[in-house]
Amino acid sequence: MQTESFLPKDAPDTPPWLQGLNAPQKKAVEHCDGPLLVLSGAGTGKTRVLTCRLANLISTGKAKPWNILAVTFTNKAAREMKDRVANMIGPMVEQVWFGTFHALAARILRRHAEAVGLKANFTILDTDDQLRLIKQVMEANHIDVKRNPPRMVLAMISRWKDKGLTPDKVSLADASNLVEGSGADLYAQYQQRLLELNACDFGDLLLHNLTLFNQYPDILTDYHQRITHVMVDEYQDTNVAQYLWISLLVQKSRNLCCVGDDDQSIYGWRGAEVANMLRFAEIYSEAETIRLEENYRSTGHILGAASVLISHNETRLGKTLYTDDQHGEKVRVNGFWDGASEARAVADRIESLARHENVPLDSMAVLVRAGYQTREFEDVFIRLGIPYRVIGAKFYERQEIRDAIAYLRLIVQPADDLAFERIVNTPARGLGAKTIATIRNAARQQGLPMLAAAENMLSDTTLKPAARKHLAEFVNMVITWRGQLEHIPHTELVMTVLDESGYTTMWQKEKTPDAEGRLENLKELVTAMDSFEDLPGFLEHISLVMDGDNTNAGGEVMLMTLHAAKGLEFDVVFLPCWEEGAFPSQRTMDEKGASGLEEERRLAYVGITRARKQIFISYAASRRVHGLWQSGIPSRFLAELPDEHLIEETEHGMASGTAKPVTFDHMPIPTAASGYGPGWARLQERRQRGFTPSRAPVEGTSALTGQSDYAIGDRVFHQKFGNGNVIAIEGDRLTIAFDKAGDKKVVAGFVERVHKS
Ligand code: ATP
Ligand code: MG
Repeated sequence: MQTESFLPKDAPDTPPWLQGLNAPQKKAVEHCDGPLLVLSGAGTGKTRVLTCRLANLISTGKAKPWNILAVTFTNKAAREMKDRVANMIGPMVEQVWFGTFHALAARILRRHAEAVGLKANFTILDTDDQLRLIKQVMEANHIDVKRNPPRMVLAMISRWKDKGLTPDKVSLADASNLVEGSGADLYAQYQQRLLELNACDFGDLLLHNLTLFNQYPDILTDYHQRITHVMVDEYQDTNVAQYLWISLLVQKSRNLCCVGDDDQSIYGWRGAEVANMLRFAEIYSEAETIRLEENYRSTGHILGAASVLISHNETRLGKTLYTDDQHGEKVRVNGFWDGASEARAVADRIESLARHENVPLDSMAVLVRAGYQTREFEDVFIRLGIPYRVIGAKFYERQEIRDAIAYLRLIVQPADDLAFERIVNTPARGLGAKTIATIRNAARQQGLPMLAAAENMLSDTTLKPAARKHLAEFVNMVITWRGQLEHIPHTELVMTVLDESGYTTMWQKEKTPDAEGRLENLKELVTAMDSFEDLPGFLEHISLVMDGDNTNAGGEVMLMTLHAAKGLEFDVVFLPCWEEGAFPSQRTMDEKGASGLEEERRLAYVGITRARKQIFISYAASRRVHGLWQSGIPSRFLAELPDEHLIEETEHGMASGTAKPVTFDHMPIPTAASGYGPGWARLQERRQRGFTPSRAPVEGTSALTGQSDYAIGDRVFHQKFGNGNVIAIEGDRLTIAFDKAGDKKVVAGFVERVHKS
């Protein structure tokens, strides 16, 4: 099978788009007419085939650049695709229809806006504007926006749009779940308001395109003439609206080339339908399907680990993957005592790879399951002076974190007017723009901070009674919190503030995935604060973080969620926080059961297959969450990884097992020496400053000695091995005679005591 890759050397005059391709790749690149599906695993060159095929179409004269539409999901991916093509065909690339679904649909809509009731200069609303609008619509219908959070209604509407459903097509059954059955009605009114404002939201871009193509055959015909070839990357993640849009565009030419990997479908929660991919051959019966099997990205061990992991999914097409590359290094799995030592070890490893092995920082990535999990790594990178970049917002720059910090700043520093303005009416407490302007003016006249001016205003009649009452409530809360500053731990204070201010409740009410992420971030903020002596110390750290010096000549470590990493590749990949409940995510499994678990496993597969050379997977035995220690159990995905591709890492932290006995050798964490590379030394200074992580015990372990407080004879429970009795104790390692699994040595943090001896 491997002989396929040993192609004769390319002839000297081979054009770049035909160079270095294996046989099936070449076949796909030279395929010009009719439907083509390239269905294959990660790193097999799908994106490469797509870009080379595009260049080939142009060079053979089969299509002009302006006849080709090439679409993908993220701006970053679209840019990379365009760059690759530009390298082959030069400036002609500008005439190709390149972009994300949104960008291309917007471009088409601008030309025909009138047909759907818009003007060509329509605005595309951001989320805040959308929210304001839906809220107005709801209020006009006398719907209680407290009981039915506008954000939730908006999320429902955008799901309908993902499915290509205009208000008249939303079925009664679908709509009855929402806002006492008036969901479809609200949707219709919201759409009407958008038209009146000459605006649309993101979902509308495709939806209006669909209306346009369906209702105006002339326009569609015009596009059939303009666009003769359509190409789609990451096809497995298309939703229904995108699928319909593509189908309409290629209705006549049937020149559709889609590349994708069913094993990498990770947007089911946003309406992606792998079925689109699986149905391809039915819909386009004349379609050619090409499978690529040689992976060019990863070493043998990485690929082996990923392939075995994904084979645990039942609903998949199944495919073989091989690499000609050396086996390379085994996948390393590390267990750590807690999240802080995990983050620290990752940072030390990055530092060491950069310094001793000259691995560029930007070819290393830390990929996490959930947005809030970047925080622990950001903090340690800041502390150690490792330049990093977050794809998406950095933790401390996220809206909810800025809001929470504004509350804290105002408590510590009552003259902080920016903080005051940010949160005086967040959550909404009846203090509108007019009231705030009044306070601002009074403050200016009296030469006082706004909070002080507001306090004065409580005893006069400047404000109407209602506004005065709301303001009094707010000012009194701030005064009370200030009083508590010296008396209760700062982590407790922040929880009180978030609670009493109604800020947490505001997000809780929304029940959207987005709001869930924000609540997780707020919890993580409490955890972050735990590492600091007091509130001013923490705020000092924050201001340091915010003074964003974000360009670094030596590159930056990439930090992002697994979702954001799709299609990208890195030399070294770190996959931390692999604990049950976090990954696979408990929430996904609760909501979607077995199919949720499979989507989680695909995410793990995406994560592992991003790595070219080295991969480090890790988990922590305990984490501090919301000020409390929680013990963690290694993710089931670790147990699914095959032994022959793993190595038990003993250099940092602990050696790990998978489903087998977990044995741990605690090792001191090596300290990273300072000073390498340009810009490094200056950043190193920062690590000297403050920030001593607090050490708190894992339940059942003494903080000072690391001794467990278990006694011989205690009855304990372990997630994997079940019940057993402690038969020996060595520091915090227990030897347990499990009823079923026999004798094992495990770390105390991994078991729960059933009863004391
Ligand atoms: P993913 O599923 O992650 O999106 P993909 O199938 O799109 O991956 P590419 O990103 O196109 O894969 O290719 C993976 C890597 O392999 C790239 O670095 C690419 O340049 C390289 N590659 C692809 N085909 C070949 C080939 N025939 N010879 C050498 N390198 C190749
Ligand atoms: Mg790709």
